[in-house]
Amino acid sequence: MPKRFGEYGGAYVPETLVPALRELECAWRTARRDPSFRAELSRWSRTLGGRPTPLYFAENLTRRGGGAEIWFKREDLLHGGAHKFNNALGQGLLARRMKKARLIAETGAGQHGVATAMIGAALGLPTEVYMGARDMERQAPNVQRMRLLGTKVHPVTSGGQTLKDAINAALRDWITNVRTTHYVLGSAVGPHPFPSLVCDFQSVIGRELRSQSRARWGQLPDLVVACVGGGSNAIGTFHPLLHTSAQLLGVEAGGRGRGVGASSLVKGTPGILHGAYTYILQDAEGEVSETESISAGLDYAGVGPEHAMLRDSGRVRYVSVRDDQALAAFHWVAQDEGILPALEPAHAIYAAMRAAARLPHRRRVVVTLSGRGDKDLEVVLRSDAQRAG
Ligand SMILES: *Cc1c(COP(=O)(O)O)cnc(C)c1O
Repeated sequence: MPKRFGEYGGAYVPETLVPALRELECAWRTARRDPSFRAELSRWSRTLGGRPTPLYFAENLTRRGGGAEIWFKREDLLHGGAHKFNNALGQGLLARRMKKARLIAETGAGQHGVATAMIGAALGLPTEVYMGARDMERQAPNVQRMRLLGTKVHPVTSGGQTLKDAINAALRDWITNVRTTHYVLGSAVGPHPFPSLVCDFQSVIGRELRSQSRARWGQLPDLVVACVGGGSNAIGTFHPLLHTSAQLLGVEAGGRGRGVGASSLVKGTPGILHGAYTYILQDAEGEVSETESISAGLDYAGVGPEHAMLRDSGRVRYVSVRDDQALAAFHWVAQDEGILPALEPAHAIYAAMRAAARLPHRRRVVVTLSGRGDKDLEVVLRSDAQRAG
């Protein structure tokens, strides 16, 4: 488990957290080699989660694109409606193994909070979630879901009252209660070992994709596309394919296309955020910038450190897609395939369509459909109304 990805990563944290991070790394090192832990993880993934998720041929969307075949890896069908389940389950089981009596988590749009609330309930672990007060207003249904699942939701009223502030509040709680509490970090970000740990739990996406495409076509896809917020669904998709010939494309949120949006890899510079050295959006003084995107799940000023390395090496190409382009892709998928995608993967689908149009018919593009769009209906309807009016 690497502590650094090239020059990126590391653990820039207060000294009080060092023992907890070390304990977590040790626990994971032994658990990942323990057949009984792996059996338990795979059983819960199947019976509660619904894995494996299917590989789906988007035939009508392919016809619309007029080039390569477009396929979806259907993480939207996972329990809770997003890939977040994979990581929340893995960390929940690990916390139980470490005899931690309590789970805490941060959440932005609420998807990770809901996933952690579900796992806390299923494993019988009391769960508390930190959420920016502004996000609680914007994402009220997810707040209600968490409460119905028995989770306590703490409003965070500092800073911009969004995801960055919620992570800070969760880290503060962890520092105070580190002996009894496990912090279920929701993306492949933060101090070591979180980026590697989260990548391990999300890599089930890429491993299934690899075996499903070999079974189906006898070979791997030509191009694999995923959206990048903190980067967990993307690294889970890409990691098992890094040493293959598949081309990899990560898609960040460009917002309205005027400022930086939330494109840390395309528009950021290296710096430290939430305990890791990585690409971040910051001003000349190193002050973290305010980000902007139609999709709350991509609205983050940093990115996982492994993506920073993959960007520099060129193994993965990263591009940025605007709000209006993601909305267009949302409607294409709804009308052509009968699927309402989350706005996060709608960014990836737009980029995939653009790439597929330039490829020959017999080539194959797979997009990770990281979540379903039910949570985004209000945002989509409001944007449509604004553009019509
Ligand atoms: C949270 C979320 C994302 C962004 O998080 P990553 O860690 O970058 O994967 C993307 N899609 C959906 C559906 C999400 O809920």
